[in-house]
Amino acid sequence: MKKITTLVLAVIIFGCSKNIESEKFQVQSTNKIPPPCVELEYPNGASKRPRTTQGPPSKNVLFVDFDGGTVSGTSWNFYGPIVYAPSGLDEEGQQVVLARITQAYDTLNLIVTTDSSKYSRAKHENRQQLNVTTTWEWFGQAGGTAFIGSFGTGNPGWVFSGLLNYDHHFVSEASCHELGHTLTLRHQAVWNTTVVPCVKIAEYRGGWIMGISYYVPFGVWGIGTASTGCNIIQNDLEQMAGIVGFKR
Ligand SMILES: [Zn+2]
Repeated sequence: MKKITTLVLAVIIFGCSKNIESEKFQVQSTNKIPPPCVELEYPNGASKRPRTTQGPPSKNVLFVDFDGGTVSGTSWNFYGPIVYAPSGLDEEGQQVVLARITQAYDTLNLIVTTDSSKYSRAKHENRQQLNVTTTWEWFGQAGGTAFIGSFGTGNPGWVFSGLLNYDHHFVSEASCHELGHTLTLRHQAVWNTTVVPCVKIAEYRGGWIMGISYYVPFGVWGIGTASTGCNIIQNDLEQMAGIVGFKR
C-alpha cells in the first residue's frame, strides 16, 4: 500500500509539481477490515475554492456508481484507463448505502443519486462521482480513497466494497467518509495536547464519519482536531457547506 501510494504521489508530483503530500495513516482496528482510506491532497488546490452561491437543491450532484465502468483522463490514471467492476452489492445493499449517504448529507445543498444522467446534466464544477467497486488492485488495500477537495474536478472517489466484505454498513460509512474528503474534509484525529509539541494519538476518531465509524450504528459529523494538526479545528458540515452550501 505504502509503495503504491508513493507511486501515486510520485506520478502526481511529476505531473503537476505542486505541494503534494499524503498523510501517514495507522491501522487502528485489529480485525481484517482495512482502514477507512488514504486521503490524498488534490494537486491543483481545488480545496481552496471559494464558497459557492447557494442554488436550487439539484444544482450539486453526488453520483454513486455501483455498476462499474471506466475512468480515464483523471489524476488517478497513472497506469492508463481504469476499468472497474460493479460493487458486488445486491439491490438491497445498494439501497442501504444510498439511503445512508442521503441521510448523512441531508443538510447540504446537493442531491445523492445513482442516476448517471443527473450527473451528466450537472455542470462539471457541481458534481462528484463515487465508484463503489470490487476493483482495488490498481490502488492497494484500503476501504477507499479520494483526493481532498476533488469535488467538481472530475476525479472520482473510490470505495472498495470487496475489501469491506460487502458489508452494507461498512460500505455505507466508507462512502460517506470518501465523499467528505471530496468536499475538502480531512480525517478527524485524536491528539494529545498536554505535551509540546502535541502528539497524534489516533488518525481516526472513533464514531465519527471522518474518523472511523465502522463500529457504531451511524457515524456522525463533528467539530474537532483535524489530522493535519492539533490546532486545526475542522467543522465538518460547515466546511463542506463552504463548497456546496446548506439546503435553504
Ligand atoms: Zn479518509
